[in-house]
Amino acid sequence: MDPWVHIIGGGLSGLSLAASLAQFKKLPGQVVISEPNARSLVAKTFSFWYMDSERLFLRPEYSSSRWTLSSGDDHVSHHGNRFEYGTRSGNHVLESALNSIDRHPQIDLVDELIHTRPKATHCFDSRPCSVDTFQLTQSFAGTEVVFEQPHGILEVGLMDCMRATDSGLQFVYLVPLGTNQLLVEHTEFTSRPADFSALDGLNISYLQQRFPHLPYRVVRTEAAHIPMGFKQEANHLGMPIGARGGMTRDATGYGYRTIRYACQQMANKLVTDNITQPFKGSSVTTWADRLFLNLIEHRPDIIPQLLMQIANRMRPDRFAAFMMMRSPVDLIHMLRAAPAKPFTCALLGRYRWI
Ligand SMILES: Cc1cc2nc3c(=O)[nH]c(=O)nc-3n(C[C@H](O)[C@H](O)[C@H](O)COP(=O)(O)OP(=O)(O)OC[C@H]3O[C@@H](n4cnc5c(N)ncnc54)[C@H](O)[C@@H]3O)c2cc1C
Repeated sequence: MDPWVHIIGGGLSGLSLAASLAQFKKLPGQVVISEPNARSLVAKTFSFWYMDSERLFLRPEYSSSRWTLSSGDDHVSHHGNRFEYGTRSGNHVLESALNSIDRHPQIDLVDELIHTRPKATHCFDSRPCSVDTFQLTQSFAGTEVVFEQPHGILEVGLMDCMRATDSGLQFVYLVPLGTNQLLVEHTEFTSRPADFSALDGLNISYLQQRFPHLPYRVVRTEAAHIPMGFKQEANHLGMPIGARGGMTRDATGYGYRTIRYACQQMANKLVTDNITQPFKGSSVTTWADRLFLNLIEHRPDIIPQLLMQIANRMRPDRFAAFMMMRSPVDLIHMLRAAPAKPFTCALLGRYRWI
């Protein structure tokens, strides 16, 4: 008998879908997840803004209600009332998904690579797309360190030390993971995928400069090129999900929250109606994000100031809601805070007028 569902890739989206299916005691048929390296999830951390009502579903391990953005001498500090910035380790995601999958008699995780469409009633494809298909790339290298003494950082450095490069925007991302543990990530939004070893080197120099007298050891590293919009249609082996299925935000690369909710909905639809429903992001969000990506591509020099103005003028909770793009109203709040000229010129395709 062919499986009822075949999921290609057991990363965040594949395992989220499988774990959501595992919540149903009796499924209409067998579920297979093909994944050659399930442990690769351990090399990732997932961060997101969430409200208290979402805590049980999104399961942050570390949280902070404060985040900052900075560029040159300009600094904005936000304190969320309704929203917190949460982080969950890939290891936690993996262990909890494997727990529910292992206990379900109809779900199997198979150690294999898939290159052709499998035979199954419903196929889902979460293989990562090639960097050639990205409109812009978010390249980053992260270094997680444990200090011998508390580092004293309480705020998340969301986009610190922002500066324009000749191919886009570079900044430092700083997440406290406990009193002695810290994740430092140099990140680029870029039209040319960045060199990981150069970004790694920047992390080490940053740590040395910021904590000259605080000994630390590196406990984990992560690096990736993730899509910021796609240029062309990829060749799918089933219904695309995860980053391949457009579940990561074009303008920011954030995907954890959307992937978790979308996969839960897909699983419910599969079990109750036996149909696959493709993920459809909001077209208004896609439009606005493309406008922003075009601005990064054509005028990287104005981006740090533009983002600082937006962060300065938006209330922290509105800023958090916009970053998660919970509804089109969040976009209206952002556009009201943003200076009109850059977006108007981007709309007209007249980047030199900015
Ligand atoms: C290092 C990193 C950090 C991130 N941090 C955040 C964050 O903080 N917040 C946030 O919201 N988003 C974050 N993202 C973005 C997004 O949430 C992740 O990219 C997420 O992992 C996307 O899930 P996915 O299932 O599409 O891809 P993946 O999780 O990459 O899963 C794809 C899986 O497919 C498997 N595979 C590949 N080829 C085959 C094949 N031929 N056959 C079978 N399996 C195959 C791979 O081994 C992989 O496990 C991050 C991404 C990365 C890479």
